[in-house]
Amino acid sequence: MNNHTPAAEVLRCESVGKTFMQGEMRVAALRDINLNLAAGEQLCVIGASGSGKSTLLHILGGLDAPSTGQIWLDGQNLAELNARAVGRLRNRALGFVYQFHHLLMEFTALENVAMPLLIARRPRAESYARAAEMLTRVGLTRRASHKPGELSGGERQRAALARALVGAPKCLLADEPTGNLDTKTARAMHDLMLELNQELRIGLVVATHDTELARTMSRTIELQDGAIKN
Ligand code: ADP
Ligand code: MG
Repeated sequence: MNNHTPAAEVLRCESVGKTFMQGEMRVAALRDINLNLAAGEQLCVIGASGSGKSTLLHILGGLDAPSTGQIWLDGQNLAELNARAVGRLRNRALGFVYQFHHLLMEFTALENVAMPLLIARRPRAESYARAAEMLTRVGLTRRASHKPGELSGGERQRAALARALVGAPKCLLADEPTGNLDTKTARAMHDLMLELNQELRIGLVVATHDTELARTMSRTIELQDGAIKN
């Protein structure tokens, strides 16, 4: 080992296109997208509503297959894996945050954050200890036993972030994670993601239409009608 090894590539996307049929109409949601992301890197995806941001994040996350082109996630070509293997790789390597928190309303913040580990059959004590640690890291120590209905919008998004990161993924894919928050809360959530990206060396992809937030990230691509605008 030496100190000059380049950071491992966590995501690569080559000539990716995606078309949807809307009735009789063929809609090109993505056109010839090429990009890569190394461990600890940041990428912001901006673009108007309908420009293809969510479609890109879905495809990068293996939640949908591209119509053309290839995706590599943590060194593996998704086209060469079956659905189960893609699912396993996604669970191990990726965390997701969305505009809506998708927390389970009947469970406490701690239980929600521990859930991915419990589902992966990790020991209970270890899962809860790790969940408590993540909740502390996102500033929710004192909210651990609260259910989502008792949390503010910003607190729910921070709990969703803790849940996304509890399994120590290689990369976080965040689709409009601050879209439902007021400006100040949005900025705090965004800054927290950037801090964790640096601290944990997790690749970070954030889709947003907030150009103010985009300016705080080291790399930005703009989508227009599904293509990267130069
Ligand atoms: P954004 O997230 O930037 O708002 P999307 O990725 O959601 O954009 O959508 C890009 C384009 O693809 C839009 O024209 C949208 O209508 C279309 N689209 C997205 N998902 C589907 C789908 N499942 N079926 C048909 N069209 C879709
Ligand atoms: Mg979207």
